[in-house]
Amino acid sequence: LVRGLDKLKDLPAETTDHHRINLYANTGLLADISPGLARGAEGVGLYRSEIPFMLHETFPTEDEQTQIYREVLQAYAPRSVYMRTLDIGGDKPLPYFGYSEENPYLGWRGIRFTLDNGSIFLTQIRALLKASAGLNNMKIMLPMVSRVEEVDAFRILLDEALVQLREEGHEIKRPSIGVMIEVPSAMMIIGQLAKRIDFISIGSNDLTQYLLAVDRNNPKVSSLYNFLNPAVIYSIYRIVRIAHQHRLKVSLCGEMAADPASVLLLIGMGIDTLSMSAFNLPKIKWVIRTISRKRAEALLIKVLALESEDSIREILESELIQAG
Ligand code: PEP
Ligand code: MG
Repeated sequence: LVRGLDKLKDLPAETTDHHRINLYANTGLLADISPGLARGAEGVGLYRSEIPFMLHETFPTEDEQTQIYREVLQAYAPRSVYMRTLDIGGDKPLPYFGYSEENPYLGWRGIRFTLDNGSIFLTQIRALLKASAGLNNMKIMLPMVSRVEEVDAFRILLDEALVQLREEGHEIKRPSIGVMIEVPSAMMIIGQLAKRIDFISIGSNDLTQYLLAVDRNNPKVSSLYNFLNPAVIYSIYRIVRIAHQHRLKVSLCGEMAADPASVLLLIGMGIDTLSMSAFNLPKIKWVIRTISRKRAEALLIKVLALESEDSIREILESELIQAG
């Protein structure tokens, strides 16, 4: 079977009725670059920029960051790389920037932290832009967005960084920008976000956590944490539909993208891109190539009428068994 999956590397990720889905890799470590390429990643759908920050002893300088980002962008060029800005807080504290909160998941994390620490954010944006010079394959993605003002504030910083760098003699193209949909409020304002951005990416790990009010890492409630919960499926379906009405491309980069049963539903919804750890790419490509979009749509309609996670899992698993 493993050898069979390897043969898939150069085949397109398309359904039997020829709908293409982009299959991208999630990364954050430079060591992940070659496995991603070896397994046929068509780009990077989530670069977790907090990982190099967590591996440093102190905030990496602009030059250090530029060098790290450039390696990823260069390795994948001309393929797209979605660089996510620093997403610390929640379950990802920075050892050299301690602060304690009673409720870190509802606290100072993601874009909230970076906007309140403007010089850290501006340094990162400058490093990202410098790293992309001449390659033009970078997109910037914002984590934990919960309101439009955050996107507006980011855009002001982006403009500022572009002006500074051009004055310093760098030739840099403005990157496309997008937000992660991870917080229920963001999901409800896609039309307003759409005026400000070029794409969205669903962070199904956090979206599941916040929709269900279940800590994604707490074993006491882990049986409640399930992305096949009907409320999660309906929410994602709604996000994709409304985003497409606003002509936004939609990617999904949480664990759900690597779950074959969920992928059947995401195909039915018309998802444009799936991003996952490189290890899972062949398996998911295989799933995509076994089903038609039409059949996946019919399956989705059936699932939307079901009321429990178990019944949803069962119907999807039986479809996978039939597919081989
Ligand atoms: C997510 O929340 O689904 C996601 C991809 O981001 P992270 O897991 O890094 O929070
Ligand atoms: Mg997240």
